Amino acid sequence: MPEISHRLQQVYNEILDYEEEFSKKPHSVNLIAVSKTRSASDIEEACKFGQTQFGESYLQEALDKIKQLQAYDLEWHFIGPIQSNKTRAIAENFTFVHSVDRLKIAQRLNEQRPKNLPPLQILIQVNTNNETSKSGCHFDELTRLASAIQTLPHLKLRGLMAIPVHEDDFEKQRLPFRQLHDAMEQLNGKGFKLDTLSMGMSKDIRAAIAEGATMVRVGTGIFGARK
Ligand SMILES: *Cc1c(COP(=O)(O)O)cnc(C)c1O
Repeated sequence: MPEISHRLQQVYNEILDYEEEFSKKPHSVNLIAVSKTRSASDIEEACKFGQTQFGESYLQEALDKIKQLQAYDLEWHFIGPIQSNKTRAIAENFTFVHSVDRLKIAQRLNEQRPKNLPPLQILIQVNTNNETSKSGCHFDELTRLASAIQTLPHLKLRGLMAIPVHEDDFEKQRLPFRQLHDAMEQLNGKGFKLDTLSMGMSKDIRAAIAEGATMVRVGTGIFGARK
């Protein structure tokens, strides 16, 4: 079996195991294969194995690969930092954006989303580390940002995303994921209808699934170490 499909099968199996371990419905956690820095042919191998959702962080290489893989029916997720001058291409070429952390970016994505496409699916990136990371909306600004995004007609706010600093200890890994989960519950208690928690990467998907992840973003675990 080629290496990528072999690893992909392992990750599918792991996700199923963790869903069972933590009493989640089988296949309720979506795997986003993070294909940044990987070639179109690596992605194609994953496609042929049945993977359809891919995450990219760098716009230009993503656009090249999206074009090369047009023959497949794929769902592209933008997961990287967003500068204002990149919003048009993101709005035109992606289904999901996980990394919205300020209103100005959301407004631009809303204006630039082509009207013949369904609303762009949006996750707010939350800063669970406060001082150590510059990106991500702070918890105390979350309700305001979510309320503002909710009014934009060409966006559909689906949930929250976080990239916590890595911890080796399982219980320590769970803490920021639990905070993110609680933040979504609080928003839903205020009338939002959010259903997506994008959290967990190659080394911490078990903790993320334990805390209710609905999307995990795995790169290295599928494609091997990045150069
Ligand atoms: C690179 C990246 C991932 C994947 O990380 P791995 O450790 O390779 O699984 C997940 N999420 C984001 C936002 C990333 O930039």
